[in-house]
Amino acid sequence: MNLKENSAVIKGLEQLQKILSELSRRIVIITHYNPDGDAIGSTLGLQIALTKSGHTCSVITPNDYPGFLKWLPGAEKIIILPGNEARVAKLIQSSDIIFFLDFNDIRRMKEISEPVSRSSAFTVLFDHHPDPVVIADCMLSDTAVSSTAELVYRFIEGTGLNKSMDRDIAACLFVGIMTDTGCFSYNSSLPETYTIMADLLRYGIDKDQIYYRIYDNFSCDRMRLLGFCLNDRMEYFPECRTALIWLDRKDQEKYNFETGDSEGFVNYPLSIKGVRFSAFFIEKEDHVKVSFRSKGNFPVNTFSATYFNGGGHRNASGGESYETLDATLEKFRGLLPQYRDELNNYDG
Ligand code: 5GP
Ligand code: MN
Repeated sequence: MNLKENSAVIKGLEQLQKILSELSRRIVIITHYNPDGDAIGSTLGLQIALTKSGHTCSVITPNDYPGFLKWLPGAEKIIILPGNEARVAKLIQSSDIIFFLDFNDIRRMKEISEPVSRSSAFTVLFDHHPDPVVIADCMLSDTAVSSTAELVYRFIEGTGLNKSMDRDIAACLFVGIMTDTGCFSYNSSLPETYTIMADLLRYGIDKDQIYYRIYDNFSCDRMRLLGFCLNDRMEYFPECRTALIWLDRKDQEKYNFETGDSEGFVNYPLSIKGVRFSAFFIEKEDHVKVSFRSKGNFPVNTFSATYFNGGGHRNASGGESYETLDATLEKFRGLLPQYRDELNNYDG
């Protein structure tokens, strides 16, 4: 498999292949809390490939995922927590192999980490976040790769599952790569990523239709919420080249908020000329969910880990705050001045 040595942790692949060479393995694939396009695309693509190769394979997510991903092949069979705890515990307990996809820290599995910690299954990590702290028997972890979906493609193509490759798998992996690169605007400088896209197209996927299904499917409420958010809930700090947006519970009620409705909102402030740090704060039932995006070298994963119990990639990270929304916003505003020089030390 062609991976960049310097940023990659690769081990146990031969052992995994050996285990998979026997038919009828019981497999579970788990992805992270608040699953996004890459989480769902990569897990479903892998699930279809493994199922077609003779294994029994379930996908489990720690919570629900956005409606714009529900059309993906196999999505209707995803087992979502909460509500399926007993079933999930049983599946994990009886599994031969557990795949962890698209996260680097077991806390991202939330409650699922508990039955996993009691399992004796062979564990596999496919991920592209820096500094994985998940220790698995087999690891395919490379920050140079666009997405976990790209890693799944490389795994399928490079390790004998390639006979199972088909249009459905191609659609899932295409969604993962497209969404995790912001439609090829970041995380997508490797020429290999485009070679993979070319190959996925050869399986007959309708690229334009997939794009429409993911991005052009706003409810009217969601579209108005975006407008409201940018108009009434955006604060701009030009001296720090930063903008933040936020939504409280009332705002969400007013616009009949549904899971996934604020997906991508954090990217909008980065379209303001000169802005290189964008933050989004959304009030949830018992915490504030935080998202950060940056351009250039400003490491929002470190920022999130230091102040907001989070992590992620250098230019895209998330976290959680257990203070009130007001206190969380105040904390963020208060932190900005100390990063002023760093945020200005970039001419992109
Ligand atoms: P988003 O802002 O879209 O929720 O997440 C952006 C990136 O940050 C994703 O790569 C995601 O995996 C990561 N991320 C989001 N929330 C958290 C979190 O609470 N903890 C950690 N460690 N990473 C997160
Ligand atoms: Mn990803």
